[in-house]
Amino acid sequence: MGDRAHDNESHEYHAVPTIRRMSTESHRQAWQDMIARQLLGRGIRDKRVLDVMRTVPRHVFVPAHMRAKSYDDAPLAIGEGQTISQPYMVALMSEMLELKGSERVLEVGTGSGYQAAILGLLAREVVSIERHESLARKAQATLKLLGIMNVEVRVDDGTLGAPDRAPFDGIIVTAGGPHVPDSLVDQLAVGGRLICPVGPREGQRIVRVRRTEQGIIEEEGIRCAFVPLIGEEGW
Ligand code: SAH
Repeated sequence: MGDRAHDNESHEYHAVPTIRRMSTESHRQAWQDMIARQLLGRGIRDKRVLDVMRTVPRHVFVPAHMRAKSYDDAPLAIGEGQTISQPYMVALMSEMLELKGSERVLEVGTGSGYQAAILGLLAREVVSIERHESLARKAQATLKLLGIMNVEVRVDDGTLGAPDRAPFDGIIVTAGGPHVPDSLVDQLAVGGRLICPVGPREGQRIVRVRRTEQGIIEEEGIRCAFVPLIGEEGW
């Protein structure tokens, strides 16, 4: 497909460890505007989240024919009827995880792998589960292309989590379910945070579940609209 920016990629290597820098010239302005307007402008304040969103190229995760829209304020189709989430939603949910860098994190819904890449740079290790094998394979390849080595992508029903790697300090679900999956709450470490869109298929709210020594605390956040979470503890 005639995507000049992509075809002429100059492979430049970046000082920041664990990420290979891709050509960004044709996206630079839109990318900076995304950070300024969509993230800073709407109150994203976690410095590590902002730095990582400035580092991970969203355009590498977007299908070639839509690459010009990579930094738009919107989700974009990635195949299999699925989407890469809106940048603000990625930043907000990442911020809600309160990551400092030493955590083990689980993501349910790998999709393009963009959120997984962001998590890979915010935490120590990431397990990301996708139910569509074609998406998982592509995401894995994109992560490898960027040199992100601490993300394991699995093909499975993510509503059941990854019991072999539990407990997790952070769990993020990037598809909307009817309720917070119990299996995921069970795999949350004491002190851990789980972020999940919950509600009917047409629209949900971001819910944060915290496991404390005293028990589970649940908070409700902003409205959102995610693709459905399909599985044993989903739709
Ligand atoms: N985090 C993704 C957004 C993907 S959209 C990104 O950054 O691009 C949500 C994804 O969740 C879809 O790819 C969908 O196939 C997947 N999904 C839905 N239900 C799932 C389940 N039970 N287990 C794993 N993946 C699931």
